[in-house]
Amino acid sequence: MILILVPNTRSDSPEYKQLLAHLANLPGISTRIHTEVGTEQTLTELYLIGNTKALSTDEISNLPCVERVVRVSEEYRVLGRHQNDSRSSSFEYNGVLFSQDTLNIFAGLCAVDTLEHVEIMMKALQAEGQVCTRMGAYKPRTSPYSFQGHGKSCLPYVFDLAGKYGIKVIAMEITHEAHLEEIRTALHQTGNATGVMLQIGTRNTQNFELLKIVGRQQTFPVLIKRGFGITLDESINAAEYLASEGNRKVIFGLRGMKTNMGDPHRNFVDFAHVPVVKRLTRMPVCIDPSHSVGTRAGSPDGILDIMHATAQGIIAGANMVLVDFHPVPSKALVDGPQALLMKELPLYLEDIQIARDAYLKRVELVKRYSQESD
Ligand code: PEP
Ligand code: MN
Repeated sequence: MILILVPNTRSDSPEYKQLLAHLANLPGISTRIHTEVGTEQTLTELYLIGNTKALSTDEISNLPCVERVVRVSEEYRVLGRHQNDSRSSSFEYNGVLFSQDTLNIFAGLCAVDTLEHVEIMMKALQAEGQVCTRMGAYKPRTSPYSFQGHGKSCLPYVFDLAGKYGIKVIAMEITHEAHLEEIRTALHQTGNATGVMLQIGTRNTQNFELLKIVGRQQTFPVLIKRGFGITLDESINAAEYLASEGNRKVIFGLRGMKTNMGDPHRNFVDFAHVPVVKRLTRMPVCIDPSHSVGTRAGSPDGILDIMHATAQGIIAGANMVLVDFHPVPSKALVDGPQALLMKELPLYLEDIQIARDAYLKRVELVKRYSQESD
């Protein structure tokens, strides 16, 4: 059961203390407090854990400071979409809004290799009015002999260049808790030139200790990728680990599943699950057509499979796209074969707009038909 308190409830007020004292006396119930400090108001939610079935929603609603009570099913307590649950899914980070209604594009380098390539990428993004990108500094690789990413050494120039070209959010995977501090330090040193969205890669989806540590900080939002060999339920529970530790700024990323059934694509594209994740949870949903499709192959209509998959995800309501580009894919140190070319950026963005417009039209169409039948 979730108790949503009246906005700006003060923790030192007598009413709040009275509420906590009442809850502490309920047998078999423990309380977890979550506070979200926004620019305009502070929201507090109390999670009652234990045998809440015995509690009366009406009675709890009448306790001091309580604005609303939501009964949650056992599944995905924080991020799940529950009955009569009108809690918003949106959050703002560094001036960029993320929700189940918005669309943000994160085109960029799979892995940072040279300063020059980072600059070419960011300059091209700025020219297209883009404010987000992806830049891998810590790369989880199948082979220990493959390039592992430049790590913290590249962060200062990546962040400086982001500031120079107006990039507000960089999606960046971390594979170890130490990377969190390295990112914090480099951001600080560059005068917070940009923002970072931490990425939990598909290989770490069930690295529970990493999830707990990343969930305990609320500075950076988190993009968690679906595990490529586990069920959707297991992956959503992994996202719930982040949220249960306190970080609600979580985006769920679809990036294809590891199975030969998807051949000849690198992974079996799972973007039909965009609406499923939106139905089960309140998280914005990201698609990664690059790691799903994994090749620059195209169809006879002249459209690359990566672009087809992108459009498929967007026409189904995706809220974010994470996609690999590279100025010289043959020189890329990671995933060159799936990178789109700089000259393809305007085309890619225009194609995305077509799919987005079509999605919005579909939503309007369904609304119109449902109003007519009311
Ligand atoms: C990536 O986005 O660079 C990446 C390694 O993705 P995934 O975790 O989906 O393989
Ligand atoms: Mn990659």
